[in-house]
Amino acid sequence: MTPFVNLSEEEQQFLCDVRKFVDEYVFPQTREWEKDTFPADIWKRCAALGLTSVVLPKEYGGRGYSCVTYAEMCRILAHGDPALAMNVAAVNALCVAHFEKFANDEQRAKYLPSILNGDCPLAWGLTEPLAGSDARYVQTKATPIPDRPGYFHLNGEKMFTTNGGFAGLIIVIARLDEENLSAFLVEKDQPGVIDKGRIETVGVKASYTWRFEMKDAIGWHTPGSFEDVISLLYRGRVGIGAMALGIAEKAFELGKAYSKERVQFGRPLAKMQSVQNMIADSSMEIEAARLLVLKAAAMYDRGEPIVKEASHAKLFASETARNVTNRMLQIFGGRGMMPEYLIEKLWRDAKLTEIGEGASEIQRLIIAKQELS
Ligand SMILES: Cc1cc2nc3c(=O)[nH]c(=O)nc-3n(C[C@H](O)[C@H](O)[C@H](O)COP(=O)(O)OP(=O)(O)OC[C@H]3O[C@@H](n4cnc5c(N)ncnc54)[C@H](O)[C@@H]3O)c2cc1C
Repeated sequence: MTPFVNLSEEEQQFLCDVRKFVDEYVFPQTREWEKDTFPADIWKRCAALGLTSVVLPKEYGGRGYSCVTYAEMCRILAHGDPALAMNVAAVNALCVAHFEKFANDEQRAKYLPSILNGDCPLAWGLTEPLAGSDARYVQTKATPIPDRPGYFHLNGEKMFTTNGGFAGLIIVIARLDEENLSAFLVEKDQPGVIDKGRIETVGVKASYTWRFEMKDAIGWHTPGSFEDVISLLYRGRVGIGAMALGIAEKAFELGKAYSKERVQFGRPLAKMQSVQNMIADSSMEIEAARLLVLKAAAMYDRGEPIVKEASHAKLFASETARNVTNRMLQIFGGRGMMPEYLIEKLWRDAKLTEIGEGASEIQRLIIAKQELS
């Protein structure tokens, strides 16, 4: 995946460890996890491997790896379990990165040790019932608590919070006044945070997607404007693009193998031209997605703005994941619709990549705005 980019020996070793973890631990359980969710110790395991501290600078106890390494990790994890890839991607790019950019020393000292050892899993709460793509419409209100500088009461409702079921701490985006929004650290285990239940989804089913209400929940302010806080989504979208790429690669591997095994009309499917066309188109799209993800990640590592490039990568890779899983399921024929074959799961999991962290229509708006400004 990494032509033109030199990874350090440490980063290369890390990615080997991730591959081993995926092959030996994640992939064998992906179907089992889908019946409910990840095992209770998942975040301890991920933390022990460094999966939750990839992007955090070394000075804060993280690995301090490049965005290219982060993208590679997301891609490899998606080969084993797309739901886990999505969770790890969000925890790094939206949550742990928030501590780097917006938390103060006191907040880092209080929470980072238990985040980094896996005792305090994280979640990121922007989306609400009335505020999805129109994220600025967030209605959750933040009101300063008298005599407790830096602390606010939060009132409102959040939905689609990835990892909410496991999280010990949620980064909540809330409204300070008519104009201004900002982010708050909200401990889940407090009376003001009310569980509104798990949201079942058609894909990435193992992910514990959560809905919750806040009634005078106590939030610790991490000052930063709305625009600053959601700018974390740029690197986040590179991670979701890499996850989509991983799904497409896995589906492609399965489809190619099946096309060589399955014989109809006296010859393998792979010998039939319409199947070869599906293989050729998928090969080309996967390669293009890989280059767009890598380009955005490498630009991020060089400190260049990636607003447009992150959307290119996410949009193209997610549509590639949709197209490739769809074609490969077609190659499996009726068996493609059976749960005995993994392809149907990848086809369902791919859908999330066209919706989460900004749906495809929003990515197109961002790209067009960049081109026309
Ligand atoms: C599994 C899963 C996990 C998620 N995890 C998180 C999380 O951890 N934290 C979090 O905060 N959110 C999370 N989300 C929410 C996700 O980011 C939103 O679902 C997404 O941004 C779309 O918002 P919406 O669902 O409200 O759709 P809507 O905004 O209602 O959009 C519906 C459709 O209309 C289109 N549309 C909307 N506005 C426009 C426009 N101006 N022009 C053209 N088309 C438009 C959209 O593209 C979409 O196709 C998650 C969602 C899912 C499904």
